[in-house]
Amino acid sequence: MSTTLPESYPDPEYEAAHVATYERVPRHPIKPAFPPGVREADFAQAIQEFIAIVGQDAVFVGEGLSDYIDPYDINEADESKRKVPSAAVCPQSADHLKAVLGVANKYAVPLWTFSRGKNLGYGGPAPRVNGSVALDLHRMNKIIEVNDHFHYAVVEPGVTFIDLYNYCVEHKKKVWPSTASLGWGSVMGNTLDRGMGFGANFAHHQAMAGLEVMLADGDVVRTGQFGISNSPSAFLSKFSFGPSVEGLFLQSNLGVVTKLSLWLTPQPQAFMSCAFSMPAFDDLEVMVDVFGELRRNGTINNVVWFTSLIETLCISGRREDYWKGEGPVPDWRLEELRVETGFGHWYARWGLYGPRRVVQAQFDEVKAVLAGRAPTGEITGTLYDDDAGVDAAAVPPEHGSMFVGVPQLWSLPLINWPIPKDRVGKAAHGDYAPVIPSSGKMVLEWMKASKPVCEANGVELMADFFMHERHVVLMNMFTWDQTDPKQKDNMNKLYYGLHEVAKARGYGMYRAHVNHMDLIANLNDFNGHAYNRFVEKIKDALDPNGILAPGKQGIWPNRFRHLRETQEADPK
Ligand SMILES: Cc1cc2nc3c(=O)[nH]c(=O)nc-3n(C[C@H](O)[C@H](O)[C@H](O)COP(=O)(O)OP(=O)(O)OC[C@H]3O[C@@H](n4cnc5c(N)ncnc54)[C@H](O)[C@@H]3O)c2cc1C
Repeated sequence: MSTTLPESYPDPEYEAAHVATYERVPRHPIKPAFPPGVREADFAQAIQEFIAIVGQDAVFVGEGLSDYIDPYDINEADESKRKVPSAAVCPQSADHLKAVLGVANKYAVPLWTFSRGKNLGYGGPAPRVNGSVALDLHRMNKIIEVNDHFHYAVVEPGVTFIDLYNYCVEHKKKVWPSTASLGWGSVMGNTLDRGMGFGANFAHHQAMAGLEVMLADGDVVRTGQFGISNSPSAFLSKFSFGPSVEGLFLQSNLGVVTKLSLWLTPQPQAFMSCAFSMPAFDDLEVMVDVFGELRRNGTINNVVWFTSLIETLCISGRREDYWKGEGPVPDWRLEELRVETGFGHWYARWGLYGPRRVVQAQFDEVKAVLAGRAPTGEITGTLYDDDAGVDAAAVPPEHGSMFVGVPQLWSLPLINWPIPKDRVGKAAHGDYAPVIPSSGKMVLEWMKASKPVCEANGVELMADFFMHERHVVLMNMFTWDQTDPKQKDNMNKLYYGLHEVAKARGYGMYRAHVNHMDLIANLNDFNGHAYNRFVEKIKDALDPNGILAPGKQGIWPNRFRHLRETQEADPK
């Protein structure tokens, strides 16, 4: 078994960013945890059997686990709370995976599944249950197909956004895959965790059709038309015979997904990069109402991404670049910054994709509606067109990048916001991400209710949201210095403070950190938590030994149910 780190990214820029992310200042050595309920001799035997399957170099222990923790773990210094695995195993094929699951079942060893482990803000690769073995699928990384007639891709777990993009460029595929704002994550993990991109087909899980899944007992199922061995519609249709089961594998511990199909956007004849900003805090109400209508009536048929002024600024600088005083940037200074930067208090960005005449007509309609309903706002639209298809790489980054599916590490600098340049610190970030109706009144009210909670804990309102047709997925972002215990304590309080605000309004969450999964799952309270009981019945039937990601999303197998934290410690 290996105590050196697994291979990571072939691209030096990505590798350097990865190393910097996992560098710990100060370094808290990894003290591997032991899987609960497993005998020591059985665990040692399981490790030997994992090695026999995948090889010495693909099983990690000790120092080799330093890429398998959460680099943003708020409890890093507290061994009793820090999330750490006992070992990591990296299968390279479905056969390897089946054999690994067999060993885990034999010795009842819990596993924690991920594809690239870049789920940063939500725990990264760290497990819910300490001592789980990290099941790292990054070596299963084949791009099985990219089809530019029907516009879809089929990938294995370890394929990253940048891998898929590079493949499409290299093979001259006339498609624009969607990407999250960081290109280093896996297409599969992001999709299964209901992650989002920025352009057309941005809601990744809504663009999947046809999964291959290995269940805990090693059985393999395919969903939808993919379940018919010779179906020509395997990746084309969500219509199938019988209940749709794809959703059972989203944010789930019911199986390990081994193949994912995802619809891609045809390379368009025209792309319009659009932005709209408004000056006042309260302008958010009219913006949300108007863009909500434009989303629902199909004038804008992909996401509109809103950012608050602080979030717009944090990509290009740190707090100290904008505010020399103590604490969060005060409102009067924010107002000065709004005028100086010209960004507006709220800034909305979206793309329009398709035939030139359609894109131009969509833009003209948006402009006319906004001129009537939100006349103090400012709209811009920059058109890129080419009869042979717009070259995404040729669109300048300020207009293109993730809006045209070109993966980058664009948003990574935002986490440095609180770190003064003359001090060694370690940037980290988290978010509270409620789902709120696309109602101007409700979104503005959320901002007004959450702003004082942020400020009471020493940070500004740093918010963005993704506008769907009928709801927004809102992100209250917070960044802190891992080396500062006070800031960590504040961020913990902030999370629970925001949770109280959301809970009182009936807002559920779109994703949650491993530390908060029980807390958030507990919001599903209808009929005595019937939803959780329903999923746990399926869990017990499919995974009687409870080996797959126990506790993930608050779903516990019978064997580990006593570990559920129904009322997690509120720092108040
Ligand atoms: C600065 C910053 C910006 C970010 N921007 C975005 C953004 O624009 N959009 C966005 O969506 N997120 C964003 N994130 C969050 C996160 O980084 C991405 O979602 C990232 O893509 C997730 O990591 P991953 O793709 O490697 O998934 P993984 O960590 O591999 O997987 C995520 C989860 O999916 C499940 N899973 C993964 N693979 C499998 C499998 N094969 N079978 C079963 N379950 C599986 C596991 O539960 C796992 O925990 C951002 C984070 C930061 C720090």
